[in-house]
Parts: sequence; C-alpha cells; structure tokens
Amino acid sequence: MSYIAGEYDVAVVGAGHAGCEAALAAARLGMKTLIFSISLEAIANMPCNPHIGGSSKGHLVREIDALGGEMGKNIDKTMIQIKMLNTSKGPAVHSLRAQADRKRYQAEMKHVLEKQENLEVKQGEIVNIEIKDGKVVSLETDVGAIYKVKTIILATGTYLKGKIFIGEYSKESGPDGVAAANKLSECLKKIGIDLVRFKTGTPARINRRSIDFSKMEIQKGDEGIEAFSFENESKDFEQVDCYLTYTNEETHKIIRENLHRSPLYAGMIEGTGPRYCPSIEDKVVRFSDKPRHQAFVEPIGLDTEEMYIQGMSSSLPEDVQIALYHTIPGLEKAEFTRPAYAIEYDCIDPSNLKLSLEYRGIEGLFMAGQINRNFWI
Ligand SMILES: Cc1cc2nc3c(=O)[nH]c(=O)nc-3n(C[C@H](O)[C@H](O)[C@H](O)COP(=O)(O)OP(=O)(O)OC[C@H]3O[C@@H](n4cnc5c(N)ncnc54)[C@H](O)[C@@H]3O)c2cc1C
Repeated sequence: MSYIAGEYDVAVVGAGHAGCEAALAAARLGMKTLIFSISLEAIANMPCNPHIGGSSKGHLVREIDALGGEMGKNIDKTMIQIKMLNTSKGPAVHSLRAQADRKRYQAEMKHVLEKQENLEVKQGEIVNIEIKDGKVVSLETDVGAIYKVKTIILATGTYLKGKIFIGEYSKESGPDGVAAANKLSECLKKIGIDLVRFKTGTPARINRRSIDFSKMEIQKGDEGIEAFSFENESKDFEQVDCYLTYTNEETHKIIRENLHRSPLYAGMIEGTGPRYCPSIEDKVVRFSDKPRHQAFVEPIGLDTEEMYIQGMSSSLPEDVQIALYHTIPGLEKAEFTRPAYAIEYDCIDPSNLKLSLEYRGIEGLFMAGQINRNFWI
C-alpha cells in the first residue's frame, strides 16, 4: 500500500560519489533535499581501487572542491598515502592521487551527510518515478513511500540491473554483494529513457600476510605534498607503502589458454567497457607484444589486511584467477579474500543530456556520475 511521505525540492537517487556531492550542493543552496541509497553502508563506497584523484581525475576533485564540494576535504581526512603523478611530464598533466582508508572515507562522508542541514538521508530502493506533462512529479520507494519532488537527480552508478560475472558464474548483484536495483530500469524505459548496457571490473583482494613483498618494488608516498582541498594545509602523516610487481609470459600463457572461459570472450557479457580500465585478459590480447604488465599492490585501509591488486582486473573463473596470480613474483602464495569480477549494468547515453545534465524532454530529471555511459569506449 503506497502513502504520501512528504514534499521536497530535490531527491537524489544514489549516495555514491556523484550523489553525495549533488545532495550536499542542493542542501547547501537551501533546497529541501532527500538522498536515497539501497544500503547506507555503501555510502561513498569505492567498489574498485580505494583512491581519489589520479590521472585525469585529480583535476576533477579540485574543481569539485572549488565549487564547495566535499570529496577533497573528505580525502584529506582519510588518506593513507599521497603522490603527485606524472611529474616527469609538464605541470599541465601533474595529477594528485591519494590512497584512501576506504571504510573511514565512507564513514566520514556518511556523517557529513547526516549532519547537513536541509538534507535527509534514507535507506531505500527507488522503484518508480512519476512524470506528468513532461515534468518530474514524484518518486516511490520499494516500501511504497511516495515523495513529491520538483527535481530528481539519478546517480545510480553501477546498480541498475547489475549483474556480476566470475567466469561461467553470474548473478544479479550490485558491487560488493549489495543488492542490485532491479525495478527502476523498467520505469525509466516507460518514461522514454533509452538505456544501454555497460561493463566494468575489479581485481581480486589478497590477504597481506600471504604476500612476499621482498620480491616487489616498494612505492613510497611523497613528502610535503599539498592537500586536495584548497581549504586545508599540507599535513605530515605516517604513510603506508604500496608495491609494484609484474606479470610475465607464464601469466599470459594461462590467460590465453583460458580465454574461452572468460564471459567477455565467450559472449555472455553484452555491455562494452571503458578503455581506461581494461581487464588483464584484455591487455594480454590487445597488447600481445608486451612481455609484462604492471601490478600495483595497495592497502585498502588501516584496519584490514586486504590488499588491492591494481591492474589485475579480470572476469576469468576463480580457479584460473588463482593460477595466474600465483605466477606473479611475490604473489606465489597469494590467499584470495575476494575474487576479481566483472559487472554489467544499465546506464544512459549522455548525448541525451543537456549541458546542465538534465535529460532532454523531461523537465527536472538530471543524471550524475557513472549512470552516464563513458564516451571513450
Ligand atoms: C567492479 C567495479 C569496478 C570499477 N572500476 C572503476 C575504475 O577503475 N575507475 C572508475 O573511475 N570507476 C570505476 N568504477 C565505477 C565506480 O562505481 C565509480 O567510479 C563510482 O563509484 C561511481 O560513483 P557514482 O556516484 O556514479 O555511483 P556509485 O558509487 O555506484 O553509487 C550508486 C548509488 O546509487 C544507489 N542506487 C542505485 N540505484 C538505486 C535505486 N533504485 N534506489 C536507491 N538507490 C539506488 C546505490 O545504493 C549507491 O548508493 C567501478 C565500479 C565497479 C562496481
């Protein structure tokens, strides 16, 4: 049974990085604002590498900060290593990158949202959006709460009809085992929004105690680097070390021999993926002349032994993943805490948006973040 739960200026669907900034900006401008997340534990989650900034993204964080956003301030509070990338090149491409304590980053952002005046934080899945005469009217949660709103910002990330793949195995799921949003896509199609499938992936996580760091190159953070936010001073703190190791011919041989078991190569995945984060099997196929690829080993927080293996994203079956990771120096005895996986989800074609990110033809409906399919595919 549905009921009217209230009237608001702005509702943000999604509390990932895009949704958090959108909701805070609206509330700080004095709008009565709501933000929804399927799970409040997943607020500002980093489902892949727990870092902020980096090549081409460090600039974006600074721009968000200049506009009064939270991301820069939040990473300044929760970073465990900081580095300026590309310093061998000109200053235009220098890029600040900070490794985050993933759980602390989430907890801090959740707390900022909870304390923000004009903003209500709610756990719930949005299943329906009502449009009347080409304008947004209301949205509804899975438990039947209807909120009348003037503006909706969809920031649903990788959750719409999310499906994960590990070799031949697949299941409906959002990232990190959080439930997918399975109902909103049908509603979006009904109101005339074209959806496309997209895919991305993430590497395995490994228990630190099973890694032999003596076979890897140490990657230290930089000293005396400026803060991300213009409001903060540079700070000294005890930085964690990251490590670098490489794949080799044996790794590549295992990948080539098992490509038929990759859902991407076997045709189980319909969606295309972004060029900027290819899986290790993509790299081995596309750059077959390269004898090795980098694998960075990075801590994901101070209160956990889980390490992220950057560069080793994969959708191969778990047994193949274990075999190929074990060929890499230092990872011979790697103990998996979570296997790598690919995720496929519904998103929109951003060429249907105005420059304001409002969907053409639907007044008051905006799209932010990963729901907007990457152009560079
Ligand atoms: C496996 C994996 C690998 C990735 N790799 C990279 C990478 O290498 N580089 C990169 O830049 N990005 C990567 N991403 C994308 C990453 O998700 C984004 O960078 C970032 O998290 C997107 O932020 P967002 O705010 O758009 O969405 P998300 O962080 O995905 O947040 C979406 C939010 O929407 C909520 N939501 C969705 N549907 C509903 C609904 N119907 N009702 C209520 N709430 C809803 C969710 O609960 C969540 O709070 C990866 C993602 C995954 C899952």
